[in-house]
Amino acid sequence: MSRVGRNITVSIDRLRHLGHRQDRPGRIASDASTCPKCDSHYSGDEMRRNLRVCPACGHHFPVTARERLEQLGEPGGYVELWSDLRAADPLQFTDLKPYVDRIREAETKTGMNEAIVCAEIEVRRVPCVAAIMDFTFMGGSMGAVVGEKLARACEHAAQKGIPLIILSSSGGARMQEGTLALMQMAKTVIALDALAEAQVPVIMILAHPTTGGVWASFASLGDVTYAEPGALIAFSGPRVIEETTREVLPADFGRAERQLANGQVDAVVDRRELAARIGRVLHILAPPDGEALLATPPGWAQGGVERVGRVAQSLPSIPGKIMGRIRPGTDDDEGSAA
Ligand SMILES: [Zn+2]
Repeated sequence: MSRVGRNITVSIDRLRHLGHRQDRPGRIASDASTCPKCDSHYSGDEMRRNLRVCPACGHHFPVTARERLEQLGEPGGYVELWSDLRAADPLQFTDLKPYVDRIREAETKTGMNEAIVCAEIEVRRVPCVAAIMDFTFMGGSMGAVVGEKLARACEHAAQKGIPLIILSSSGGARMQEGTLALMQMAKTVIALDALAEAQVPVIMILAHPTTGGVWASFASLGDVTYAEPGALIAFSGPRVIEETTREVLPADFGRAERQLANGQVDAVVDRRELAARIGRVLHILAPPDGEALLATPPGWAQGGVERVGRVAQSLPSIPGKIMGRIRPGTDDDEGSAA
């Protein structure tokens, strides 16, 4: 049997398997949870208080987009944007069931219109635009609406000159929208590029899982990139690669900790520290009192140690001694770079 034939068989089997999965017994209601790592049991209230992190072993449970917004800002302290956008079905796509039915089901199940929620929010007193993906809505897949909302979020942040926070949690492009979904990869990358030209910082948070076309486009383009512990961050999941290459991958393949070692993320941050950590970075890059610390040449966001160094040098709070350690030999001309 050819390789193509084998792969198609595997994928149809998997679809059938997914189709029957909701009938399986023993699925736990989402609000009271048992930790899959250490079997500790928590009530819904405890879960919310612990930001859906297991206090015993640190396992990070999934979080919905709106709960994420509450975790990052103040409870109820955000204004949702473009919540009326809904997916169309121009391809009239049907797999095991019609795409329109899948959308309707996802809407009923999640109370959302799409796999992303955009909002204006204050994180540690710094006004931001946030674009938060939600894996519970069709696997957080990126279709035309997700791409459009992300592009609008970039535009909105650029126009207002305030930072953009993106949280990705997605299986990739939405296969039911075919090429239209793949086009969102280019669209979101161009939108982020415009943001870099406007010198507006982008904080990227990679939650479990960030894979496929989302990781291959905007999710890998943050100025500062954080990942949640244990999150899978890869183009293809390890199961697919093992099936295709017939090789055994290391246990930590594509995990956040491995991506940190690979240099793909700046830090792996516990969810309970995340808001404070983002707040600290925002106070450096976009302080709430509006001091123009970002007096750097356009395009600094594209990376470059010197550019970041120049931003850091213009910070009044960092003593010259420390700056000397970061850039040895610059003590004498300290302050000349801006
Ligand atoms: Zn646990």
